[in-house]
Amino acid sequence: MKIGFIGLGNMGAPMAINLAKAGHELIGYDAKLDVPKELTQGVSSKTLAKDADVVILMLPNGEISKSVAFDILPVMQKGSVMIDCSTIDVASAKKINQIADENLIDFLDAPVSGGVVGACSGSLTFMVGGKEDIYTKVAHLFNIMGQKSVFCGAAGNGQSAKICNNMILGVTMIATCEAFSLADNLGLDRQAMYDVVSTSSGSSWSMNTYCPAKGIGPQSPSDNDYLPGFASDLMLKDLRLAQQAANEVQANTPMGKAAVDIYETFVEKDNGSGLDFSAILPWIKNINGS
Ligand code: NAD
Repeated sequence: MKIGFIGLGNMGAPMAINLAKAGHELIGYDAKLDVPKELTQGVSSKTLAKDADVVILMLPNGEISKSVAFDILPVMQKGSVMIDCSTIDVASAKKINQIADENLIDFLDAPVSGGVVGACSGSLTFMVGGKEDIYTKVAHLFNIMGQKSVFCGAAGNGQSAKICNNMILGVTMIATCEAFSLADNLGLDRQAMYDVVSTSSGSSWSMNTYCPAKGIGPQSPSDNDYLPGFASDLMLKDLRLAQQAANEVQANTPMGKAAVDIYETFVEKDNGSGLDFSAILPWIKNINGS
């Protein structure tokens, strides 16, 4: 397939390289970065889009995805496919789908879980919204860039799944960090706490796989001075998208709201920017003064 890839940052570059290594013809474009050597340099998003079978976007936010998509959809070949793998708000994903429809282009929103490590190793999980036959048509591309893709239903549902997942992740990470802080003050050994909780009803991915306590559980960013990993800034972005969606559909999400407030304070007031999202643990302990 002839694939145009727009947005070659931390995630996009390794994803595009994996597609090129699998034998697809890759033309890349980034507003700021040169394309990796495995790809052909595109002159602009528009020129790249003109003769691509599939155009993949991996961009910072919904405003940028919309502006790039609205620019290139009119020049894409009728019947070609646009896949937006960026994490963006649900409303923007639905709007892009509507404009794609008007231009006879098939659109899928397909945000990912798995971070930069997953992008490099081709082990991302894709959550996909759009038409099922189009998902089936391009599923082999998801299989190259990832280990799993889940079809979630109508356009926008990929983004919905992503923000629901990450709202759970943010909330459980905060709860796990709070519990470690409480356990410390109660004199409970961290290893004992982990051994109990990771095999009990308080277990979660945050505790079992990504334990925020240094030296406890499998290797995680806490063992590397809380370098990301998954940056707190990106967690804050996703939690805000969840609140935006919750407001739009009048869903009651008090824990999601509390998680936004906590990450907002951590990132924007207390120097948490650039640290992994599990660094809530040392931050909370510091607030406690313990
Ligand atoms: P990034 O900032 O490293 O890359 C984005 C790239 O888009 C940049 O290189 C930028 O120059 C380019 N860009 C911006 N505007 C452009 C335009 N108009 N035309 C062409 N290129 C443009 O970000 P990233 O970490 O690669 O994340 C990309 C997306 O993936 C985001 O939506 C993010 O939320 C999501 N995501 C990131 C991670 C992660 O761990 N980094 C994990 C899951 C999802």
